[in-house]
Amino acid sequence: MKIYNTLSKRKEEFVPIEEGKVRMYVCGPTVYNLIHIGNARPMIVFDTVRRYMEHKGYQVNYVSNFTDVDDKIIKKAAEEGVDASVISARYIEECKKDMAALNVRPATTHPLATNEIDGMLEMIGTLIQKEYAYPAEDGTVYFRTRRFPEYGKLSHKNLDDLQGGSRSLLVSGEEQKEDSLDFVLWKPKKEGEPYWESPWCKGRPGWHIECSVMSRKYLGEQIDIHAGGEDLVFPHHENEIAQSEAANGKNFANYWMHNAFLNIDNRKMSKSAGNFFTVRDISEKYDLQVLRFFMLSAHYRSPLNFSADLMEAAKNGYERIVTGVSNLDYLAQNVGRSEADEQEKALLVQAEAFITRFDEAMDDDFNTADAISVIFELVKFANTNTGENSSREFAGKLAEEIVRLSDICGLLVRKQAQILDEEIENLIEERKQARKAKDFARADAIRSELLEKGIVLEDTREGVKWKRI
Ligand code: AMP
Ligand code: ZN
Repeated sequence: MKIYNTLSKRKEEFVPIEEGKVRMYVCGPTVYNLIHIGNARPMIVFDTVRRYMEHKGYQVNYVSNFTDVDDKIIKKAAEEGVDASVISARYIEECKKDMAALNVRPATTHPLATNEIDGMLEMIGTLIQKEYAYPAEDGTVYFRTRRFPEYGKLSHKNLDDLQGGSRSLLVSGEEQKEDSLDFVLWKPKKEGEPYWESPWCKGRPGWHIECSVMSRKYLGEQIDIHAGGEDLVFPHHENEIAQSEAANGKNFANYWMHNAFLNIDNRKMSKSAGNFFTVRDISEKYDLQVLRFFMLSAHYRSPLNFSADLMEAAKNGYERIVTGVSNLDYLAQNVGRSEADEQEKALLVQAEAFITRFDEAMDDDFNTADAISVIFELVKFANTNTGENSSREFAGKLAEEIVRLSDICGLLVRKQAQILDEEIENLIEERKQARKAKDFARADAIRSELLEKGIVLEDTREGVKWKRI
């Protein structure tokens, strides 16, 4: 399996630290609002990476934080006249609902920054002791960037170029820094802000230190994969590397993965620019599986432009798989012959090639775009080779294969029966009336609608019988 590593700027063979195990950390959202679909991109992409790793037999320890103390959360809390923790708790809950609807599995651990302050104080203390950090007069603690010579290795930036850039950006209050490149580890509280006691001042942590601390606590000093959106490469991940490697004296993460942006009109979708759709907005118009399908139809390192047309195309693509599976499920329940014959057995062997090709696409830095094309081809193969004369075994095995590959992408393609008995009876009655009125199109539409919900109709001499599949 090859992974593109931002650190080396090339695809590298994945070799885990511990055989059969993956330690993976994904930077999570700052919770002061409903998540937008740009935030959903890393969630979907890295959930798919996790699922694929598990499919390959790895045990994945997947940690993703919620940043629950931050200027924007504090601002929102002030606007509503509530405590910052009320805002973060509300949006963590909402975020978890969106994740579930996107079929993003909960992380092994979802740490909250505010529960990990002790660890942060401890790491900052170590950094001061090792002279990688220093407290300024007002109690702000800064990281001494130039003391970490490898600074810039992830973003491929040169310290002197950075210096030039940051000097012009010098803002007031920063004069107390030894060097303009130094960044904040701990900052004094302002009036009305949440704060914690520390040896330096009453205050709160900088953003970067939280991930270094939570990653170490839940995954150890060295991890396999650290991931997030590409806007995090600099300064967030660069600073995390500096903090972790200076404090622990060890290489931090072996593979750094970054997803490209979800754009709208070719500009990054972001809360601050106001050009965003929340996941909730999209859920009003589409099944969120369509959004997941849309995200995975591009490679994660390619920018993806959001548009109504592309969402419609994603809807059609997703539905093609769902319909393929429904048809196979119908055959698997209803055709006369139970066991596969010789010809079908040969076709099943042929179908294994799709699985190999799916894995090849995913092994190549998680090329979900190609992997989904392989699923389409398998659906087409199934459509072409099945019919009323198929065996239940053949149709069933093909259905399972499509469902299994889709599931590795986290795509739910088999509709769960969510329909109540009473609704089914009503639809059956409506279908009977439609047939009486010779409205066969409507009658057929009702049959398909029920099938999509996992309900199969059987016309018998005693009337229509139905069963759930
Ligand atoms: P934030 O809440 O802004 O810290 O973002 C949470 C995660 O979403 C980070 O991994 C960001 O890199 C990612 N992200 C934010 N906006 C976008 C976007 N438009 N496209 C892709 N990823 C994004
Ligand atoms: Zn982070």
